Amino acid sequence: MSTFVNNMETKKKKDIRALSKDDLRAFFVSQGDKPFRGNQVYEWLWNKGAHVFDDMTNLSIDTRNMLQEHFVINHIKVDQMQRSSDGTVKNAVRLHDGLIVESVLIPTASRSTACVSSQVGCSLDCRFCATARLKRMRNLNPDEIFDQVVAIDKESRLYFDRPLSNIVFMGMGEPLMNYNNVLKAIDKITSDEGLGMSPKRITVSTSGVPKMIRKMADDNVKFKLAVSLHSAINEVRTSIMPFNKNFPLEDLRDALVHWYSKTKNRITYEYVVWEGINDKRKDVDALVKFCNFAPSKVNLIEYNPIDDGEFQQANSEALNMYIKVLEANNITVTVRRSRGKDIDAACGQLANKS
Ligand code: SAH
Repeated sequence: MSTFVNNMETKKKKDIRALSKDDLRAFFVSQGDKPFRGNQVYEWLWNKGAHVFDDMTNLSIDTRNMLQEHFVINHIKVDQMQRSSDGTVKNAVRLHDGLIVESVLIPTASRSTACVSSQVGCSLDCRFCATARLKRMRNLNPDEIFDQVVAIDKESRLYFDRPLSNIVFMGMGEPLMNYNNVLKAIDKITSDEGLGMSPKRITVSTSGVPKMIRKMADDNVKFKLAVSLHSAINEVRTSIMPFNKNFPLEDLRDALVHWYSKTKNRITYEYVVWEGINDKRKDVDALVKFCNFAPSKVNLIEYNPIDDGEFQQANSEALNMYIKVLEANNITVTVRRSRGKDIDAACGQLANKS
């Protein structure tokens, strides 16, 4: 019974981190207090990482109790942390409503990169991706994205003795299908009142939603863009990423031309080469033609098998052909080895298995 009453009470209370700084200032005025209190609370929430109102030690006990009556802080909880033999760390993160997402810390010699989720499950249907099988359950709120970053920053300091250096939105979900919340989270991550990280160290990875790429360009965002292309031939791309039917490559390319004209930022393409799917000369020729309007980098990602062997990584001959042709056309190529495979933390493997 008492749990039920508590739940009812919690439901009625508002998530305090859904309020802007101005909202908080106005709230304090409505309570007969000074607007400045709103700034103090905002700083506790977004800069000092308060988990409970009692952490806010420069507020009186009465003020903390009053906040407690009106609001909750829906902080995420790292339910389970796994460490890979290669140093990669995976967090299973529990949200306030019991749902779980995963985020990953990928350490290299000089960097600590956080790979964060933007949705619970995913609304897209890439046939090679384990997250796609979960379907989309809901979007993450800005604070839930922000909290993942803070948790990984702490782990980076603890295990590698350095703060987080980069963030990639390559965890669960399609960030551009949760654009507003992703943008709000990045705003908190980059602002001085939040974590003060440079937007240049943040990459948003998308399967390619043309309308949203245009919007991002028009919104003048400062972070980097990566596009999960995997094929520059419509028929092939639709067979592995069925939503391509609704967002064909011509539209995607137009949107990217617009992005480049506004940002002048190099575009990164993520690309897996699969045997019998996109491992022929015509595939790499189509890729060159697709990229040629702007400085580009192609990141050849190792395939992480998710099941029955329907998809197989192409052999090294095919990979070498890609590298040779791309380089001959002045396209930068990197080959990305998987990290954290033993704990299902690699690209496309995030599926809440544990
Ligand atoms: N929805 C976004 C971000 C999440 S996926 C996007 O599509 O970009 C992050 C990257 O992992 C994408 O490039 C995706 O195509 C790739 N990926 C998905 N499944 C994979 C798998 N099984 N092996 C290797 N890469 C995979």
